[in-house]
Amino acid sequence: MKAVPDCIFCKIASGQLPCEKILEDEYSLAFMDIGPVVLGHTLLVPRQHGETIEDLPEDTAAGMLKNLPRLVRAVRLGTGCEGVNVLQNNGRIAGQVVPHVHFHIIPRDKGSEFQFNWPAGRYEEGQMQEIAGNIRDNL
Ligand code: 5GP
Ligand code: ZN
Repeated sequence: MKAVPDCIFCKIASGQLPCEKILEDEYSLAFMDIGPVVLGHTLLVPRQHGETIEDLPEDTAAGMLKNLPRLVRAVRLGTGCEGVNVLQNNGRIAGQVVPHVHFHIIPRDKGSEFQFNWPAGRYEEGQMQEIAGNIRDNL
């Protein structure tokens, strides 16, 4: 598995840098986020380096994501929270700071500081179908 020099999460995955580990297997590891937006904030990362989710081979993505249900359940039960957000940022514009794929598992409770804006919009007539066609053309 090719590690990228100076990549923090490659270093954590290879054991060169420490982390508070939750689980690991041949494809991925999960560990506590060092700067939690909510206490219990956990990260799931593939061992294989990829900058964004688009860069991951399908078997790596599948191998990593098979751990997600178990991990989310453990975060929920382990923190006693009511709900959980799973977030994954791709690219600086989307808020990605560490350029190694990672999923954020964030415990949610009433009154937690963490909020995000969800400004639901509307499509013009035919616009949804046109955009969907453009997306399908790129599968
Ligand atoms: P991003 O903004 O790229 O989606 O999220 C990067 C996350 O990685 C942040 O939540 C940040 O707190 C976390 N992080 C950055 N450096 C380290 C580190 O060295 N160790 C751990 N455990 N988390 C880190
Ligand atoms: Zn990396």
